[in-house]
Amino acid sequence: MNDTVALHDMTLAELSQGLRDKQFSSVELTNHFLTRIGKMDAQFNSFITVTREQALVQAQAADDRLAAGNAPALCGIPLAHKDIFCTKGVKTSCASKMLDNFLPPYDATVIDNFQNSGAVMLGKTNMDEFAMGSSNENSFYGPVKNPWAEDSVPGGSSGGSAAAVSARLSPAATATDTGGSIRQPAALCGVTGLKPSYGRVSRWGMIAYASSLDQGGPITRTAEDAAIMLNVMASYDDKDSTCINKDVPDYTSTLNDSIEGLKIGIPKEYFGEGLDSATGAAVEAAIKQYEQQGASISEISLPRTELSVPAYYVIAPAEASANLSRFDGVRYGYRCKDPADLQDLYKRSRGEGFGDEVKRRILVGAYALSAGYYDAYYNKAQQVRRLVKQDYDEAFKSVDIILGPTTPSPAFKFGAKTTDPVAMYLEDIYTISANLAGLPGISLPCGLVDGKPVGLQLISNAFTEARLLNVAHQFQQHTDHHLQPPAASVSA
Ligand code: GLN
Repeated sequence: MNDTVALHDMTLAELSQGLRDKQFSSVELTNHFLTRIGKMDAQFNSFITVTREQALVQAQAADDRLAAGNAPALCGIPLAHKDIFCTKGVKTSCASKMLDNFLPPYDATVIDNFQNSGAVMLGKTNMDEFAMGSSNENSFYGPVKNPWAEDSVPGGSSGGSAAAVSARLSPAATATDTGGSIRQPAALCGVTGLKPSYGRVSRWGMIAYASSLDQGGPITRTAEDAAIMLNVMASYDDKDSTCINKDVPDYTSTLNDSIEGLKIGIPKEYFGEGLDSATGAAVEAAIKQYEQQGASISEISLPRTELSVPAYYVIAPAEASANLSRFDGVRYGYRCKDPADLQDLYKRSRGEGFGDEVKRRILVGAYALSAGYYDAYYNKAQQVRRLVKQDYDEAFKSVDIILGPTTPSPAFKFGAKTTDPVAMYLEDIYTISANLAGLPGISLPCGLVDGKPVGLQLISNAFTEARLLNVAHQFQQHTDHHLQPPAASVSA
């Protein structure tokens, strides 16, 4: 390893090795990132909470464990967690005024898994309120800035996690993806984001948005690091009835498998109207790269692509309206001042505690589920969802991997889509269908357009994350887009 590489430029794989070789301790490493966050995050706003004291205690414990030998790969490595994962005794706000005072009495399973592996928590990252959004403009704590362009959004809803990893304020972060919230911000911030198959990562203690679509996953700089993170995040959990009881392979062990003869399908619907031409060109170059590495490329069709956004925007709000009914001002969270009676308590606590986009989703969802409309909207959307899944089933009969852009264009400017919710919703046109079908998808940096990163998305069949990560890693072995830092990360 090169001694001149700064700690914040090292990958998880390199940090893990460095800790083992005693080049630095976890306390030093943790202090390094805490200092960077302290100096730089006023600029990005990627953290809602920084857990300095707790991080240093965990780092000391990790150093003891490393000294004893046989410590797990992530032992001693600092990470940031999206503020949607419950952390015992540490504020978990989901970026909502509603939960601004919420101290969970327990840890999410994902957080537990990281603790057991000796990882250190730096803090909790900013996001769109209740994970609803594509730009991070819906946070009670203010927007996150894109480290590549301060006038532009970082994407959402996991914008804080993506910006923190991009700006080198954390080596990696957790995030969640209901319709694209890992992959889209990863694309716009020039980092790697993996949404696992539905059921691969426990949702227990992850605040629910749309339960049949939500899935936790990592945001990292490399696919290899995503594999290291998934090794810890994926587990069977009997506290989440939708979590699959399936062995977790070592996702790092197959990263170097050959991709000779790999069959990649290019959905023609992902390259039509709406795709920015320079973004399309960056993705075309990635296709050529795969071809050079021995993959065979063919055009496929996912005919229901354009139905996935409308189906999603019925199903997700419907589930959200049910999930968010628990925030009533009674048990925990925000309570309005001096309620006149119980009705007033409910109405004003919810009216004052939720932001506009969350209210919009609750209204849409409650409407779609109401008597007389349920069959016309909710049931119909579920039928479309089945057809979307059938498109993928058909495609995976002839290809191993589906490749396309992650987003239609690079990061847009703040305010550009806030007055037009539908334009904002179309941001997720390429990511949503993988959630509807429960499939794993990964976004990898594949170039810059006007100085801003764009992403390449790979989707594979359910529970084939090992192959997906292998195919992603092989791209990164032959390209250097993922190694480019934003200029803003170099300043401190
Ligand atoms: N942008 C989508 C939404 O607003 C997806 C968000 C997500 O994946 N959490 O619902």
